[in-house]
Amino acid sequence: MTTPRLAAVALVWAGAACAVSQQQEVQLGAETAAQVEQQLPLVRDGQVNSYITSLGRSLARVADTRGLTWHFKVVDSKEVNAFAIPGGWVYVNRGLIERVQNMSQLAGVLGHEIAHVTLRHSVQQMQQMQGAGAGVTVLCTLTKVCQSGAGQTAINVGGSALFAKFSRSDENEADAEGVRTTVRAGIDPRGIPEMFGILLSERQRNPNALESFFATHPLEQDRIATTQALIATFPASQLRGLRRDATAFQSFRSRLRSLPSR
Ligand SMILES: [Zn+2]
Repeated sequence: MTTPRLAAVALVWAGAACAVSQQQEVQLGAETAAQVEQQLPLVRDGQVNSYITSLGRSLARVADTRGLTWHFKVVDSKEVNAFAIPGGWVYVNRGLIERVQNMSQLAGVLGHEIAHVTLRHSVQQMQQMQGAGAGVTVLCTLTKVCQSGAGQTAINVGGSALFAKFSRSDENEADAEGVRTTVRAGIDPRGIPEMFGILLSERQRNPNALESFFATHPLEQDRIATTQALIATFPASQLRGLRRDATAFQSFRSRLRSLPSR
């Protein structure tokens, strides 16, 4: 049971009023991450965790001006999804990584999720839910992940599972920030529109696999065009020098594919 933990989280929020300090955000994030990790299966492999952490932190280092401690983990689920928790926790599903073709595409996903934290979309969303009396919740839709596992894996906070959907403007902001972050980290931002293309074509082929992702990250063709237009504002000479793939990424993906499925 997670009731004692929930009581602690509720207390944090009761004192939070309108403005959430960084300390409160991190404390809330840590509590929420602990609940998520009790209930979602994580890939617990040293090589996989070390790579996602190092790629994620290379992006967070150039995106975050608040000096948060960032945590990046792989969820052992075939569903395509990624989500972030306030305070610096980012989770990417195995099913998403297995569809990625090169390092820049995964970096784009991480850059986008990092932006939901740095732009404080995530914490604002939690505040809105708190204000509505909904209690603490986990960000982004995990319902499908939960349903696909054992019955007790449902993320169920305060008696009802509540999942948030980011607005289109939050998504556009996170995309733009994701583009800038990858460029600053020396990684090719064209991985972002490429990833959208992969997801959209996958949705046509196999809608169920992406249901939870699309429930929280509204994605239409215009996000491809919008990010491509932003990328076109960078000098071609700058884009040419950016990294698109890495041997370490390909080893990471092969390692992940070699691990037994749940
Ligand atoms: Zn998003």
